[in-house]
Amino acid sequence: MTLLAAEKVTLAYGTTAVVHDVSLTVDEGGVGLIGESGSGKTTLARALLGLVRPRSGVVRYGSRDLAGLGRTGRAEFRRAVQPVFQDGSEALDPRMTAGASITEALTTHHRMSRAERRDRVDALLADVGLDPALAARRPHEMSGGQRQRVAVARALAVEPRLLVLDEPTSALDVTVQARILDLLERLAAEHGLGYLLITHNLGVVGRLCRTSSVLFAGRVVESGPTRELLTRPAHPYTRALRDAVPRLGGEPPRPTGRTEAAPATSGCPFRVPCPLAVDRCRDEAPLAREVEGRGVACHRAEEVLGHVSREDRDAPRQ
Ligand code: SF4
Repeated sequence: MTLLAAEKVTLAYGTTAVVHDVSLTVDEGGVGLIGESGSGKTTLARALLGLVRPRSGVVRYGSRDLAGLGRTGRAEFRRAVQPVFQDGSEALDPRMTAGASITEALTTHHRMSRAERRDRVDALLADVGLDPALAARRPHEMSGGQRQRVAVARALAVEPRLLVLDEPTSALDVTVQARILDLLERLAAEHGLGYLLITHNLGVVGRLCRTSSVLFAGRVVESGPTRELLTRPAHPYTRALRDAVPRLGGEPPRPTGRTEAAPATSGCPFRVPCPLAVDRCRDEAPLAREVEGRGVACHRAEEVLGHVSREDRDAPRQ
């Protein structure tokens, strides 16, 4: 069932469009949105959270247009769709203890006695793998991983249906990242949550998301089953991102140089750094089309697929 969807959404700051005609569906289970800094992914996330209005297109919560929700509908949406940001400290008031932050979220949507609140806070902290004694600590008295767990507990306090996870592990070191990803995977399964995972790291979506979309310069350049995107990318940009993911026991990631060139303003936006660019790419912007079970906006997608080597297919990635 569709929980949240963008339909042909264009977003702009002033006269400058930063997201172009993007469609994306989040249902039960995980969906990935992959892009580098400046790709428009965070702006799109803000639109999906109802914080930015599209210039054109529609954001739907279930079957309802977000822009048309009344007061009750908006309150229901704010409870059902919870954000978790890059750094837990963004969601936590530095003056409040972890327990007070979670209680604040709890009491916004539920009436509870003091004893019920205390029990619920303890249960939520235990659910995210923290000692309930941590409820007495303020954000600066916790590690980055603990703060992110408290932020997740706070999001879960309102019993959401969907989490919008915006780079939830990128501020953490690698071992803590892995534990937070384990936690999110377990919680999503146990609570029956949908989630949109926004990240620059293709390796992260490989673990958690059944389907993913890749955003470049505000456009979806490839979307489909995450496993296919990781093992057989059909767009040169997806391939560049994939090559930046470390291989277990393999060579260090290959530098791609993909971020050095500004997107082209005519033809294919990726044509400046693209190693496969031809004259047609300068003259004609590629439209998204279906190629081997995924959507891809590249004139030469079949050739990209044809060049996937046995080594590419077989090498495990983190
Ligand atoms: S359309 Fe051309 S420039 Fe764009 S990604 Fe494909 S091959 Fe590269």
